[in-house]
Amino acid sequence: MFSSLEIVFRPQNLPDRNPVPVNLEGHESNLPNILDHFLTYEEIKEFLARIAQLFKDKVSMEKLGETALGRDINMAVINPNAAKTVILVANMHAREWGATTSALFIISELVKNREQYLEFFDIRWMIIPLANPDGYEYTREYDRYWSKNRSPQPGGTFGVDLNANFEHMWGMGKPVDPDDRTYNGPRAFSEEETIAISAVMEEMALDTILFIDMHTYGNHIFHAWGHTPDPSPDVANSRNVAFAGADAMRAKFHEYYTVGAPSALFHRVYGTSLDYCQALAINADEKQIDFAEQLESVAYVLCGDGTVTYDKFCQIWHAKGILDKLYRLIDVDSTNLISTNQIMEFISNLTNSRAAWIEGTDPVCDENDDHVPWVVRYFERV
Ligand SMILES: [Zn+2]
Repeated sequence: MFSSLEIVFRPQNLPDRNPVPVNLEGHESNLPNILDHFLTYEEIKEFLARIAQLFKDKVSMEKLGETALGRDINMAVINPNAAKTVILVANMHAREWGATTSALFIISELVKNREQYLEFFDIRWMIIPLANPDGYEYTREYDRYWSKNRSPQPGGTFGVDLNANFEHMWGMGKPVDPDDRTYNGPRAFSEEETIAISAVMEEMALDTILFIDMHTYGNHIFHAWGHTPDPSPDVANSRNVAFAGADAMRAKFHEYYTVGAPSALFHRVYGTSLDYCQALAINADEKQIDFAEQLESVAYVLCGDGTVTYDKFCQIWHAKGILDKLYRLIDVDSTNLISTNQIMEFISNLTNSRAAWIEGTDPVCDENDDHVPWVVRYFERV
């Protein structure tokens, strides 16, 4: 079970002040205040390093790569040993500063006010708060409305729309001029940023239950597909999650969000992270379906109509390498160690609990319903 969503919200205006020096010595109170002003790239880097240093046992930082201009693409990892993963990406579009502030706020809450979010302990959070640092700094220094990254392109232009540079259905729309805001690059994954982000998606494909790409454009929650109005395989599930979020935001903040595929709400989009993630999830499901089919074929073809003894049963399974394959499927990180959680997660993916769960769920709730527990139940069931 899996959802990939793109959350877009209306940016709130924070004062744009001159950067303040960040004191790295001393106590937590010296953490840059993420809600005071939009942080610079350096301040964000320092915030992440500082919070990882102050809360060593709760959060770690990973450098995923370097941009064309040599800036770091960083990821915060919270609860690294949890079996289920949520991936959150912000600022693929440089000018959408509010997405980065939101991601930093989420990191800060999950780490500093951890006890208020006990239901999220079971989730490994992988948060990339500043996916496009070169573009971000360019919007701060030169052009507030710049959206792409800043990699040099043919013809002396700069930048690729990162959210059009992912592999799935890349380049299927009309050709886009390198000068254009939505230029999708010379090829899929031509950019350091999309290489870094997709590597995380690929590595975590088997146990990611939710992928969210955050933007600030209007109040919308998009689900796959972007490239076609046809429904994605898990669309009912994605819509349930999206509506739970939209209902919760309406109840709490009186903000109204529309839910739908980009192709239905606006127009078709190609090469998005949303679609790439959805395609990866399908492949991950297929691996497990392949395995289930292999089990069936062993049962029917090798065992035949007769009965088998326990010893024979073990022999067949060993001979077909099924135990090895089973172990490798569960041990996704190839650590040669698997946890009960991983085994249970694997079994729940194999069984078809999804249909029963969707049938037993009413996504249309009134405003008095508390959706946070609903979302938590969702996480527990997938
Ligand atoms: Zn955007």
